[in-house]
Parts: sequence; C-alpha cells; structure tokens
Amino acid sequence: MCRLRQIGCSLGPGRLLSSRGKRGRASQTTPTTRDLFPRDRSTLCLKPRPPVVTVMGHVDHGKTTLLDWLRKTSVAEREAGGITQHIGAFSVQLSTGERLTFLDTPGHAAFSSMRARGASLTDIAVLVVAGDDGVMVQTRECVDLVRSAGVPLVVAINKCDKPGAEPVSLPALLHSLGSLLQPCVPYNEKERVEEELLQCGVQLERFGGDVQSVRISAVTGRGVPQLEEALLAEAELNAVMGDPSGPVEAVVIESHVDRGLGPVASVVVRHGTLECGAVLVAGRTWGKVRAMFDERRKPMREAPPSTPVLTVGWRDLPTSGDNCLQADSESAARSMVQHRASTPARLSGVRENRESGEGGEGVGVVVKGDMVGSVEVVVQVLEKRQPEGAAVRVIHSGVGAVTDSDVELAASTGSVILAFGVSSTKSVKALARQKNVTIHSHTVIYKLLELLKEHVKGTLPWRE
Ligand code: GDP
Repeated sequence: MCRLRQIGCSLGPGRLLSSRGKRGRASQTTPTTRDLFPRDRSTLCLKPRPPVVTVMGHVDHGKTTLLDWLRKTSVAEREAGGITQHIGAFSVQLSTGERLTFLDTPGHAAFSSMRARGASLTDIAVLVVAGDDGVMVQTRECVDLVRSAGVPLVVAINKCDKPGAEPVSLPALLHSLGSLLQPCVPYNEKERVEEELLQCGVQLERFGGDVQSVRISAVTGRGVPQLEEALLAEAELNAVMGDPSGPVEAVVIESHVDRGLGPVASVVVRHGTLECGAVLVAGRTWGKVRAMFDERRKPMREAPPSTPVLTVGWRDLPTSGDNCLQADSESAARSMVQHRASTPARLSGVRENRESGEGGEGVGVVVKGDMVGSVEVVVQVLEKRQPEGAAVRVIHSGVGAVTDSDVELAASTGSVILAFGVSSTKSVKALARQKNVTIHSHTVIYKLLELLKEHVKGTLPWRE
C-alpha cells in the first residue's frame, strides 16, 4: 500500500504529461482523408485508466478458472445477474469502484498474436503457476514472451487450497501457522516455485526484484482480492494512462457475423470515448457504429479508455489485433480504406532495410512505438526530412517496447533507438549501456526528433 501512495503523488489523476501548443514538426502528420494516424502524442491529455490484463501460464494451472472467478465476482456482474457473453474481454468492477479489464482468451496465443499484429494492448500480464506443479515449459515460454514484449508481470501462485505434494516440514508448518491469513501453499512449495521463477529470470520482490507474487486459489477465491490490488498497484507504477477526449483509438479483439446484427467486432478503447455514430476504420474495413454493447449485452452509450465494447455496423469483419481509428466522416473512411488497399506494405508496421542492403552512410535508427500508426508517423517524418542521400536511415521499425534484440541490432549497426511512447525494462537499459547504444524515448514526436538531431550533430552534418 505504501508503494501505492508513493507513486500516487507523482502521477495524480489528470496530470497533463504533454506540452500543448508546441506542435513543431509533428504537424506534418496532420490526418488527411487519404490516411489516418493516431493523434499527435503532444496533444494527449492523459488520465489514469483501468489496466488491460492478460492471464498466462502453463496448461491446467488455472487460467480459465481464475478468469471465471474474476468475472463472477465483479460488482457489475453481480448487479446484472445475467449471463456474460464471450466478447474476448471483460471489465471487472471492484467494490472500491476501480476497474480492471481482462482479455479472456487465456494462454499466450492471444497475447502473441496481438503483439505480432502490432497492437500493444496488454498493460500487465498475470503469470499463473500452480503451486503443486511449479514452473513448467509453457511457464518459461510465457516469461520469455512477456520479457521480450517489455510488459510488467505479476505472478499468481495458484491452487493454494490444495494440500502440498511435498511433505510439510516443521519450519514450513510454523511458517503456515505464522501467516494464518494466507495459509495457502505450504511454505516449502511457495519457496520452491519462487526459486524456480528466479532461475527463469523473474525478479520477485522477495529476492529484491520488482515482480509481485500473490498466492491465490482460483477455486475458493482466496488471495484474488490481493491479486487485484497488486494489478492496480502495478498499473499505477507503470502509469497506465489514456486520453478520454478526442478521436477514438481502439484495438480489435474479436469479430464475427451475428445473425441479427451482421458483422460485429469487440474492441478495447485506448484513447478517446467511443459513442454511437462514430465512424471507425480498422485494417481494410470500416464501419459506422450503430449500436454498442458490453459483455452482458447491455447497450452502452459511451466507452472510455480500456473499456471492452461490442460494436455493430461494420461493412466487413476487421481482424483481431487491428488498430481501429476514428475517421471524420464516412467518405474519409472509405477513401482511407481504398488508400490502404493500394499500399499493402505500409500496413505491416515493420520495415526491415537491413536484409535488403538499403542504407549506406549515415546514422542508423531503430524506431519503436506504441502502435502501428505511431511507428508509421515517426518513420514518415524521418523520411520527409531526409528526401535523398539520408544522413539518417531507418534500420528497423516495429511496435512494442524496446527489446534486447533491438539493442543488439542497434549495437551491430551503430544505430540509435527512438522509442515513441514505449518503455524499456531495466535489463534492456543495462544491455544498452553495456553495448554503448543510445535509447531516446519520448511521447512527443518533435522532441524525439530534437534528441535525434542532437545525437546526429555530434557525428554527421544534419540535413534540414
Ligand atoms: P487452464 O488450462 O490453465 O485454463 O486451467 P483450468 O482453469 O482449466 O484448470 C485446470 C484444472 O485445475 C481444473 O480441473 C480446475 O478445476 C483446477 N483448478 C484450477 N484452479 C484451481 C485451484 O485454485 N485449486 C484447485 N484445487 N484446483 C484448481
């Protein structure tokens, strides 16, 4: 709790993390009817929003049971008393009024496909490890996946209601007696799981790291409120924010054709507040939102950041993981979709010049950003400023946090990393220091470019 308070004072609600009015060169990115970009990050007015959480772990360790428990203990769920429809994500309202959004396709398939498609939707991952089974193959895979994506992790040691498989020693028994409030997995087992996790590189708080671990039982619900609290603390620590005003940016979770409603898509809103009548573009399709429902099929009037919502009114089915942006009008949406169809490569979100041997002299740049659109914007701005014989060349661009492999790539090509609205973990920063790689991060494009300019000036002439 003291951790919560500590952070609370530095990141209070509604704090403006940007400098309005100083649009500078980023104004080159003004949306047109030909294409849409996520709005300029310099104009964002960020406010805390519920974290979007993915539950991961080895098969049979209790992911589905945990998601079911979370769903049915939500205040909103109890009030509605209805049956929850599967829309790929659900919102949990705690008795304190706080909310958490869970992606309810357990396992890392959802997580990795989302990542691969460039939608950095997950704010926090919960790693479920059955206390009686310990760290298994898929647990390790999840750890690697989460680490490479730079997503914060909270460990849930599950099945703490079960008598341990290992014999309980006297010290273990004394330990359990000493913690009567959480007499869960026997002492030696919890220790064992934590030590196994440490061996996988998970730096748990108990060993001086920053990863929280909570003992739970997904069957009895014991420890689940503590897990929810840990997730909220993690969200606060990581400044999980969104801008409820302005045009909507969302991510498609699932889509299907509903017999009565036609093509429907569930989306989780990132920025803006979605309302009926909004025109949305996702991938190569678009739609005017005719109706919106929550996961209980209750009609919704508005969906602020982090809200999962089923949208009706699509022309065609958007793909899971697609970024979804609001257009000014139906004609703008139509023209954007046509434009996208004619330039398929632009939508891949990843540019790889290394293999093609493109480049030549100059300073290499590795661009990482929080969404496909934002990466495109940074790359385009760089390209626009470097019409020919570039002093700066984009070696690689992609969506998501800066990873070890980005640092390795930057080190081997003598590049600098530009991170737009994404973070890098302590270990990535340490590797960058060790490899002498500079990481410039900012949430404002022109400031990022200023940093790059300073960097380049030190080595090469800067071409305006
Ligand atoms: P998943 O494959 O990770 O989604 O695992 P499930 O949620 O399907 O759980 C696998 C089995 O473990 C089921 O039989 C669950 O009832 C059981 N299980 C899950 N959580 C707990 C728990 O906390 N305690 C006990 N005793 N059993 C659990």
